[in-house]
Amino acid sequence: MTAPEWDVIVLGAGPAGALAAHQLARQRLRVLLVDKRTFPRWKVCGTCLNGLALEALAQAGLSGLVDRLGGVPLTRLHLGLQNHQAELELPLGRSLSRGRLDLVLAEAAEAEGAVWRRGTEATVTGPCPGGRQVRLCSGGAAETTSARVVLVATGLGSPGLTPAIGIRNRVEAHSRVGAGCRVDTGAGGYGRGTIHMAVGRHGYVGLVRTETGYLNLAAAFDRAHLIQAGGAASAAAGVLAEAGFEPVPEASASAWLATPALTAHRWPPAAERVLLLGDAAGYVEPFTGEGMGWALLGALAVVPWAVQGQHQWSRELERQWVRRYGRLIGCRQRLCRGLAFALRRPGLSRCALAAVERWPVLASPFLHPFDGAGVNSLVPEPCP
Ligand SMILES: Cc1cc2nc3c(=O)[nH]c(=O)nc-3n(C[C@H](O)[C@H](O)[C@H](O)COP(=O)(O)OP(=O)(O)OC[C@H]3O[C@@H](n4cnc5c(N)ncnc54)[C@H](O)[C@@H]3O)c2cc1C
Repeated sequence: MTAPEWDVIVLGAGPAGALAAHQLARQRLRVLLVDKRTFPRWKVCGTCLNGLALEALAQAGLSGLVDRLGGVPLTRLHLGLQNHQAELELPLGRSLSRGRLDLVLAEAAEAEGAVWRRGTEATVTGPCPGGRQVRLCSGGAAETTSARVVLVATGLGSPGLTPAIGIRNRVEAHSRVGAGCRVDTGAGGYGRGTIHMAVGRHGYVGLVRTETGYLNLAAAFDRAHLIQAGGAASAAAGVLAEAGFEPVPEASASAWLATPALTAHRWPPAAERVLLLGDAAGYVEPFTGEGMGWALLGALAVVPWAVQGQHQWSRELERQWVRRYGRLIGCRQRLCRGLAFALRRPGLSRCALAAVERWPVLASPFLHPFDGAGVNSLVPEPCP
């Protein structure tokens, strides 16, 4: 019998996987970080880091990173719905292009000693003595390696990966799909420092200017409407017009990327020597732009479990992670699911916008996630 080759293999180098690899390499564990894409890579995302995400980075020892990369401070939310518009003040936030953020996080993991393999698709396969096997495919060649603990942080991609290891993957009926692009435009209505959010009957579009000067568009649409509209560019143009926003003509000539269904459950987010985190552990529509915060928080929280798994693995350890993850992220996701429900009902969302305009404090649960219970009090809970 040979010991597993790695202490931890992390699948996916998005914010969840890269930060987990960084934290575990710091603990002097032998960490392999694998991503199927080559970097830097663009990704459909609103690019907004909220206070939770910034605090999680600070707690990981990477507090200066976003400012060093030129992250743009976000101070206002400009919301448009059925030709009615409102402005709200935002708490702490930054906009930073995903190509840059994800590259720098993975490089930080490498600098701590993790080995990072790009352009390599990974699949979790069977158990092996004291570990779990992982199959790596790159440039047509395949090999099998193993680790004591495998972290799956593959985002919404690779939905076929988890059923093979006994984790159910259920996509919510009528789940919206995501789409996005970035455009080089001077469209004057979309200045730096503001999140512009246009809401229509069949979806919404968020527009933010990143540190690159590009305008980043990230949207969620009803699948049927996307097809009916003839693609993401025209669906987005329709939503902007419905909300009374300035058109962005350059967007129709841009290359749009789409995502799989956005609201998906993975249950349970753990299996023998495998723990799920980030979007891979389940996701809801991104209206409140919290996904990176959840991903980074999950990365910090998983560290004691991955360390404990080096010495001993048990079903109880899996159950404890499922409970911990649910307590950390589950309540926020329920709140976001409620908001997604309201956004699909024009009368309800119109009333909600009018109420928020009059009493901005009503928006607090969405704008100030984790207020009163900062990341410091949430994360350090040790593994039992
Ligand atoms: C339209 C839209 C707007 C959004 N706006 C915001 C926002 O403004 N703010 C915010 O905080 N969040 C936002 N989000 C959510 C945010 O993008 C995600 O929550 C976040 O990227 C999750 O990080 P992750 O590390 O879990 O997954 P990802 O960032 O998706 O990373 C997963 C990685 O795994 C890799 N991978 C997948 N399968 C495999 C495999 N088999 N082998 C190896 N590698 C693999 C992928 O290539 C990818 O690099 C938005 C999402 C959408 C769709």
